[in-house]
Formats: sequence, C-alpha cells, structure tokens
Amino acid sequence: NRDSVPACAAAPACDTPYARVSGSDLEVPLVPGGTIRYANFDYAASAPALSEVTDRIAELLPFYASVHRGAGYASRVSTAAYEDARASVARFIGACDDQVVVFTRNTTDSLNLLAGCVPGETVVLDVEHHANLLPWRDARIVEAAGTIDETCERLSDELTVRPAALLAVTGASNVTGEVLPIARLAEIAHRCGARIVVDGAQLVPHRRVDLAECGVDYLAFSGHKLYAPFGAGVLVGRRDWLDDAPPYLAGGGAVINVTVGEAIWASAPARHEAGSPNVLGAAAIAAACDALSAHDGGPREAALRDRLLAGLAGIKGIDVLRIWDDSRESVGIVAFTVAGYAPGQVAAYLSAEHGIGVRDGRFCAHPLLARFGNGVGAVRASLGLGSTAGDVDRLVAALGELVARGP
Ligand code: PLP
Repeated sequence: NRDSVPACAAAPACDTPYARVSGSDLEVPLVPGGTIRYANFDYAASAPALSEVTDRIAELLPFYASVHRGAGYASRVSTAAYEDARASVARFIGACDDQVVVFTRNTTDSLNLLAGCVPGETVVLDVEHHANLLPWRDARIVEAAGTIDETCERLSDELTVRPAALLAVTGASNVTGEVLPIARLAEIAHRCGARIVVDGAQLVPHRRVDLAECGVDYLAFSGHKLYAPFGAGVLVGRRDWLDDAPPYLAGGGAVINVTVGEAIWASAPARHEAGSPNVLGAAAIAAACDALSAHDGGPREAALRDRLLAGLAGIKGIDVLRIWDDSRESVGIVAFTVAGYAPGQVAAYLSAEHGIGVRDGRFCAHPLLARFGNGVGAVRASLGLGSTAGDVDRLVAALGELVARGP
C-alpha cells in the first residue's frame, strides 16, 4: 500500500511544518521497546501551542496580576493585555461594530452562555457536536443528509414554516471535516427572521472567518483547538441579546453597583465575565489569532488531506465517513472505519506499535455516529500546522500493515 501513496503535489512544503508547534519533536515509547517521534493526528481534539503563543505567555508571566481594578503596574499591564486580546480576536474574525467579544472557558461554555440569551426557539442539525446540540432549551432538530443543497432547503423550510430565533450550525464537522456554507445559511436564517450562530471549534483553526463578510451573528470557538492552551474560549456576537439576558455567572466584575438585595448589571462583555478572568488564556488566544492571520495554512493542509485520502483509498476495508453526497470543502479531519477491527483496537495499535496518536469513538456526536450504524464509532485522524507528509505516510503504511495482518 505504501507504493499507492501518490507523490505529494508540493512534497517539500508538505514536509515543513509552519512553525515550531510544541510537541512536534516528542519521542514516545513503542511496544515491544524503543522510542519513535510522535505523529500527532489529534489536532481536532486539542492543538499544541504555537511558539508565538508560548512566547507571549512567557512575556506576560512576570506581570501576573488581576485585571481592571488594580492600579499597580503589573495589573495595568495585565488589563491592557486582556483588552488588547479582545481587540485582536475581534480583528481576526472580522467582528462588526455591534459585535462584542466575550471570553469564556471554551466552545461549550460559549454556546451555553448564548443559550441563556436566545429569546425563542433554536433550529439545529442532527450532526452537531453535543456542545451545539444539548445547550439549546427549545431545540428543533433537522436532518443533515443527502446534498448540502437539500440540507439548506430543509433548514429554510423549517424556519419558514415555524419561525425560530436562532439557527445553530457547525462551521466544520468535528467528525468528517466537511464545511458548511455559513454565508448562505446566514442569508437563509436572516430571510426567515432568525439569527445564526456558528460553532467554529473546528472551522476557525483551519479557515479565516470574516463575520462582516459572511453575515454570521454569533461565533464560538476554543483556545485549545486554536494552538493556545486549555481554559479559554470565545463567544463573539451581537450585543443586544447579550445585554438583555441575565449574566451568565453572577459575581464581581459583572456589576456596576450593588446594594443589599440589588445589583445593577454591566453590559457585555463584562456582564458575562464575572470573577477573575483567564488573562493568560485570553492573551494566548490573541497571540494564536495574530500568528494565524499572518499565515494561510489552508493549501498545505489540503495537500496533506488529499494525500491521506489517497492513501486510505488504496487500503481494502477502510471506509471514510461523510455526511453529504456533494460536499467539496473539508478541513483536515478524516474519520474512517477499518473492516474487522473496532476503532479502539486500531487506535491502540497505531499508538503502541507506531507512535501515532489518533482518536477513536463517537466524538461527542452520538446521533451522527449512530447513523453510520456500527455502534462503536470510528477512528479520526486530524491534521494541523505541525503535520507533515512523512506523518501521513507513516499512518497510511501502519494501517496497510494492520489490514495485511488480518483481523
Ligand atoms: N464543537 C465542536 C465542533 C467540537 O469539535 C468541539 C470539541 O471537540 C466542541 C464544540 C467543544 O469544544 P470544547 O470542548 O473546547 O468546549
């Protein structure tokens, strides 16, 4: 099967990762013995920090201090870093003047926050990650199947027949990597009097999103999938719903004045950021945004994805999952099954015998995986800025070896 791997269109570029991504020289143990350089195919779960991000954290650490109320120098540096981070994020995703950046813990947190602000029902697709399925209180679920056109029409029909306040869709599937046409969906939502939120957890790390250009009202994403550390995320979106809703958390920082028994709440973003915020997390996301806005990793990632798909196509018994019949655009995420092997067995084999890290299971998208019908899920290989053509070839060769061995 190794021979069936086509030459990468731009082999040298494919083999040169963008920047030093932490962990790219990690050596991991092999069974029965020895070590090998880790091949990370789990970027969709969490992407290791970029050197720009770790540099920014190191720069800020000496000024470790709480924001907004301190007059000391360190507190002023921290406050400036936190508010500059908000501005960097807004720039990175092309936020409009009436859109505000709220720092959260992650995408799940962002979508739960927004769910508390929606003045009505929400329409969602059945292929969503649980984070974009479970928070909505009055959710109506629409099937994503057939072609992307058919799915758009189904959403349009649903919103026309019974108006909703919000359409909540993923930007890119965390299972198949397929990308939804968010500008078109924004147009459909607006035509039907609804707003749209995009779960950008898998889209934002791979594609430039410009909210002004695509007309999306709300966007949620996580720092730890955007080459920044865990614990910080973003909800960006139109101010009025955020200002009209009760604070997501009640506490210090979210209020203008408190008397016994009464609080006058601040407007967004402070309204939804009670408690001491994650200053380093916000600054780290901003550093990642700045680094990514100066670099278009798309073409390189597409070449690596094509290389992986071509390799998998050459191995008998491997089935690549997809939601739509006609999707043409995908980020670097590929989920597949291997005939005769449970996904967990494949993942364990790749890790133990080849030092390759993939993910297996149902990827917090149980309704979608149930559709594929095997009850145990799939294997997911996801690419990022540190991925190389050599890693892809290693993965394909290892899978070929497993299949040749027989179950
Ligand atoms: N949405 C999608 C599409 C995801 O892939 C994930 C995480 O895998 C989430 C939401 C949840 O992200 P987090 O765990 O950072 O809240």
